[in-house]
Amino acid sequence: MFAERGGGATDKASILAAHVSALEREIGQLQGALAHLDELAPGLEAAARARFAEVLVQTNGKVAELSRRATGERATAEDWKVLRNQRRDFTSLAREYLAFVQGALMRRTTLDAGLLPVVDALLLEVQQRVRGGGDPLTVLAEREWYGEEAQIIRLRFPLTDIWSVSVAVHELGHSAGPRLSRREQQDRFWERVYPLQTILRREYTTGQSAWSRMHELFADAFAVYLTGPAYACACALLRFDPVGATSDGPTHPSNARRLALMFRFLERMDDATGSTAYGGMLGELRARWRAAVAEATGSDLEEVTTADERLATETKVTVDELWDVLHGTVESARYSRISEAQRLKPQLVSGPRAQPTPGLDLADVLNAAWLNRVDHLDDPSVISTVGSRARDLCFALVKAASDSNP
Ligand SMILES: [Zn+2]
Repeated sequence: MFAERGGGATDKASILAAHVSALEREIGQLQGALAHLDELAPGLEAAARARFAEVLVQTNGKVAELSRRATGERATAEDWKVLRNQRRDFTSLAREYLAFVQGALMRRTTLDAGLLPVVDALLLEVQQRVRGGGDPLTVLAEREWYGEEAQIIRLRFPLTDIWSVSVAVHELGHSAGPRLSRREQQDRFWERVYPLQTILRREYTTGQSAWSRMHELFADAFAVYLTGPAYACACALLRFDPVGATSDGPTHPSNARRLALMFRFLERMDDATGSTAYGGMLGELRARWRAAVAEATGSDLEEVTTADERLATETKVTVDELWDVLHGTVESARYSRISEAQRLKPQLVSGPRAQPTPGLDLADVLNAAWLNRVDHLDDPSVISTVGSRARDLCFALVKAASDSNP
């Protein structure tokens, strides 16, 4: 039984010191492992140090200060609060660190099918065009998400081929979107404004779900605007479940709504250049998606089509709003190389294999692959050939980039 003192204190030494000491040991273990990263994650040492070294030193300093107080005097409520905050921040950091280590090991064991460097290079391509973000790093995890603390993007494990690679750009959209800005004149002064943040704040007044769904729609729009149709194709033909296609979830809008937005974005990209590059592809994607919904829900195709057209009209307001966000902040980064993808398209099916050429982007290769796939949806042998040729060309592009910039 503890002897009670005023304010609930006892005459025993506080256990705060033990808590702080445990935290110090955990920080020390991560710092020690950082020193051996050249063995664990060759090629990723710089990426790891940029993400963890400085923040670990800072955390260590704060915890050491707390440790001095904890061993000197009796702990106060404020000390426990500081410990709680440090523990929370360190737990997030340790989670990111673990993801990093798992990602590094997966690359070594080729459990990523060699594709994570391709994903990183694709994200770098996009980041350079929107002039934002650091050195991208992708790992595989149980689901797709983005960790803000160390800016690590997670893709769903396992990753087997190039068809889902563009999903990473959606994840990048979650982090890049709120940072997109433009200068705007307010009275006599120029101010930097963040248009997506304004929209998200407005949505939040309706509730967390509205905020979250808008975030998702923006990330979809971002992926299509910056890298073209590959991501929309992957969603419509491979990833989105047509069962319950029109039900909004607590964090994600319905799959049908997301596709309606992406398809309309591609039409607007055509309108902006006065072309019809996406017209044929969109007709096929819509037809296949609606047929899948009718099949999976046992509904009449005509009814599904009417409902889908109504949804497309409903989505128009959001499309216009998100188009203005992207057009007003990164217009020059809009994907405008579909003619390059069309030029490359036949070389992914037959004849001599395409080689990396200056100016050819990874997004061009992914779009060329999907242009082929949409044309040959019922021909697994063409899809397999295109997938493997596109993958090899992506590998060659990443190698050429690292050879020229070692
Ligand atoms: Zn998302």
